[in-house]
Amino acid sequence: MALDPKRTVADLKELRELTGDENGAQRVAWTETWERAREWLRGLVAEIGAKESIDAAGNQWFTLAGKDKRAVLIGGHIDSVPNGGWLDGALNLLAGLEILRRVAGGGEAPVTLRLVNWADEEGARFGRSLFGSSAAAGSMRDQDELRQLLDRDGVALPDALVAHGVDLDHALDASKELATAAAYLELHIEQGPVLESLGLPLGVVQGTFGVERHRITWHGQAAHAGSTPMDKRRDALAGAAKLALEIRDIARRTGGGAVCTSGSVVCHPGIVTSVVETAEQLLDQRDLNAHRLAMMLAEAQASSERFAGEESIEVEWEKLWSIEPILFDDTLLGFCEEAILEVAGVSHRLPSGPLHDAAEVARAGVPTVMMFVQSLRGLSHTKLEDTREEHLEQSVAALDRLTAKTIDWVAGGGGR
Ligand SMILES: [Zn+2]
Repeated sequence: MALDPKRTVADLKELRELTGDENGAQRVAWTETWERAREWLRGLVAEIGAKESIDAAGNQWFTLAGKDKRAVLIGGHIDSVPNGGWLDGALNLLAGLEILRRVAGGGEAPVTLRLVNWADEEGARFGRSLFGSSAAAGSMRDQDELRQLLDRDGVALPDALVAHGVDLDHALDASKELATAAAYLELHIEQGPVLESLGLPLGVVQGTFGVERHRITWHGQAAHAGSTPMDKRRDALAGAAKLALEIRDIARRTGGGAVCTSGSVVCHPGIVTSVVETAEQLLDQRDLNAHRLAMMLAEAQASSERFAGEESIEVEWEKLWSIEPILFDDTLLGFCEEAILEVAGVSHRLPSGPLHDAAEVARAGVPTVMMFVQSLRGLSHTKLEDTREEHLEQSVAALDRLTAKTIDWVAGGGGR
């Protein structure tokens, strides 16, 4: 069967009809609608002759056996957030399906090709994203916390999983699936404004940002707003305010796409007649380079000490969460660039701000790359999420070329 990118767009529309409503996609993981979407996908793949299996974490695998057991993986996720878009996760999966059709039509491939539908990428029901891929990657280390998670109706995560045939205690057995993985490919909508602003359909994703998240508490002195002269104040908010502005310069000086966000400042006592005694500030810093990320954090900390001195207040830092940058494979980055150039004539390398299943697979040591296709207005996780149909078709064609190059590479001994 020849590759038919228009069929992918038609498949996406059919899925939207089947599992969406006037508010958007409703394929939240571990729900009936999600199962219906998986059942639909199962039916489409059955026509190709790929073999289906569900692993210990609920990930749905479709395997097209080749001469060699070593496998090229294409991944996506059919789950969505409530009122989500029609492309997030589904494009990667249905583009992968089209490539499976094309490869199956060409007789036995030199290596195995596997399409994986990761379970619960979004974490929409229980607040834990990348469930299936982190289990397969072996990086799921929070099973005790997972056991405690409840959805809005008070249903515990392990109980919701059991209803879909998954035993949380054995979820990590899914890591067997990566034993034969030689390379991993993922196409995704960008979910941001960069490619659109450059007028480009497709981009090569270099890796996912490292993240530093901290709570900064500023301690001053509550004092009467009327009786305390300006030069006698120890105003905790002044420190937070100075830092909120300083981090913008820190990100600008760092360059290369680095971002810093002060997402919240909560003041106490928080009344109009008092100087602020304590201000709790949240800081999120991201960059693709671990050294530059560490420098940004150190600069923010040094600035905070200086501001505390200037304002005669104290500052205290507490780390909330961090993750190192995850860089994709150099050889695959090259293939991805070639594939995009062949299809679109121009390519661009960019980092990913959000984490994706691909980051988990890369962390497990499988050579990985992602390709982004332009998102209109940078919108995602809303029914307004959209991409031009010609760009969707180009993305299927480019992923197909990337897959062909990767199959050749793995057949020649490349990959893991
Ligand atoms: Zn996604």
